[in-house]
Amino acid sequence: MDKLIISNLSKSYTNGINALTEVSLEVPKGMFGLLGPNGAGKSTLMRTLATLQEPDKGSIFLGDIDLLHQKNEVRKILGYLPQEFGLYPKVSAQTLLNHLAVLKGITKRNERKEIVTSLLHKTNLYDVRKQYLGGFSGGMKQRFGIAQALLNNPKLLIVDEPTAGLDPAERNRFYNLLSEIGEKTIVILSTHIVGDVKELCTRMAIINQSRIVLSGNPIELIHNTEGRIYQKTIFKNELAAYKKEYRVINEKLFLGKPVIHILSDTNPANGFVPVKSDLEHVYFSQIKKNR
Ligand code: ADP
Repeated sequence: MDKLIISNLSKSYTNGINALTEVSLEVPKGMFGLLGPNGAGKSTLMRTLATLQEPDKGSIFLGDIDLLHQKNEVRKILGYLPQEFGLYPKVSAQTLLNHLAVLKGITKRNERKEIVTSLLHKTNLYDVRKQYLGGFSGGMKQRFGIAQALLNNPKLLIVDEPTAGLDPAERNRFYNLLSEIGEKTIVILSTHIVGDVKELCTRMAIINQSRIVLSGNPIELIHNTEGRIYQKTIFKNELAAYKKEYRVINEKLFLGKPVIHILSDTNPANGFVPVKSDLEHVYFSQIKKNR
């Protein structure tokens, strides 16, 4: 199966904001997580991959297909779930999916019925297929979004921040659906939620301030920070001083008290204890690098 190869992609908006700077990535089959804070450039990259917007420079290829110049070819092999996904509230899931299938060119009635039914089963919406979409929960809407994105049996599926706003049970169900799709498809998932990547992805990249700052296999990336993360419970008024002296990559409350995590190549002593490294450490060590 072909890889998606993104090379030196740059984009700035007319207001002067650089949303993508020299972005290069290789994305094989499976689940690929693009992780970054709000404003990093994720949606810009997702929309560019979905051929909805032009970069200023760079190239994107999926096998022989030039995504930036063969848009009709791309749309045949692409599924896209945008961040803002509008649904008609007074239409049933089955009716809308059927309608979208017509728009995607599945004109043979029997074939269409088969595809729509199988996607409703796959996304666990078959039992509610006759209900109006307006009454669907966030998780059901997102699963419907995946059903519509899969209508053309895509080779490349792009999902932009799909788990924001889902409760833990809905999120898990959605993870299971995506990972099943990832067995046969290139799936790119953009997210600001580290857990999405931790649970799902075999490859990942971190994007910050328009640039890819790290990419690889999450397990290897975690391994690289192993033995360099230390933690300490402190008092609130000490935080500024610790930030000056140490490379604080994470601060959170535990039982109401601030706990800081620092990155250090040597044992800092001073009451710090070593902790097991995880993907949050990898992420925050990249995001907070220059601050
Ligand atoms: P993310 O999806 O990671 O939150 P975006 O790609 O939406 O990031 O945005 C990247 C940067 O580009 C942000 O600073 C954002 O404000 C800016 N931006 C996004 N879309 C537009 C637009 N249409 N016009 C101008 N600036 C934009």
